[in-house]
Amino acid sequence: MPFGVDITDQKLHRDMQEESWRYYTQCIRRQIYSGICFRDAYCFGEYNPFAQSFLPPRIRDDMNPHRVKFKFECSATVTEVLKFRTISINGELFLSDVLDALRKRSNVKVIQRRFDSLENVTALTEGIVFNCLGLGAGKLFRDDKIVPIKGQLLYLKPQPDINSFMFGQGNYGRFSVYPLGNKLAIGLTYEKGKGDLILEEDVLEKYKAVLGEFYQEHGVLVF
Ligand SMILES: Cc1cc2nc3c(=O)[nH]c(=O)nc-3n(C[C@H](O)[C@H](O)[C@H](O)COP(=O)(O)OP(=O)(O)OC[C@H]3O[C@@H](n4cnc5c(N)ncnc54)[C@H](O)[C@@H]3O)c2cc1C
Repeated sequence: MPFGVDITDQKLHRDMQEESWRYYTQCIRRQIYSGICFRDAYCFGEYNPFAQSFLPPRIRDDMNPHRVKFKFECSATVTEVLKFRTISINGELFLSDVLDALRKRSNVKVIQRRFDSLENVTALTEGIVFNCLGLGAGKLFRDDKIVPIKGQLLYLKPQPDINSFMFGQGNYGRFSVYPLGNKLAIGLTYEKGKGDLILEEDVLEKYKAVLGEFYQEHGVLVF
């Protein structure tokens, strides 16, 4: 599900989504790698990821966004929410499986190394180089179009009853909740232009305030 997308070429965007959806649904069907599964998602309040995305119709049909009545077990409040199905990837499990699969192939050599300068890259003897350095690419290629976005996740103990994505947007702000391996992750902050890895302790208070207000409206607090 593309959330924070900054891409102007709509055809390229559609092609990337088609390819990605095709690949990961195949991985799930064939059970090639662990850590990938379909998961239901529930959007509360004004949050509607389909409103401004350029999803190809075939993927949208697969995701089947529709309105349902929703009530938490411990609450009397019934709310109408947008429900859809999407793909969940636990990066830790998935990437370690991909690496294992590569290592098993006799013609693939895995080397871990740091690239401190562009010369390190141009000195490679390989014919094709894929740049997957993420934020690090901006520094190495002196590309100021690469801008960081800082987010902080809050990890809670797993809660077996919460096995779907939950997204909320309202007077309380915006947040997401999802199971991630042996934890429950909550995401809330999204700060464009910030690239440091400093943990800001006051974020916890922000989370409590947002989820507290959500609780007032819908009757469940995931803390
Ligand atoms: C809090 C938070 C929550 C997020 N939640 C989600 C989510 O729920 N779903 C989602 O789809 N996305 C999410 N994202 C975004 C997602 O993490 C990134 O889009 C994704 O990790 C980018 O993948 P990548 O492989 O391009 O880059 P990265 O994952 O950043 O990988 C780049 C790798 O290159 C290495 N590297 C960099 N420079 C060098 C160098 N000079 N030499 C050698 N190695 C180098 C880095 O160490 C890193 O391992 C989230 C991001 C944040 C911060």
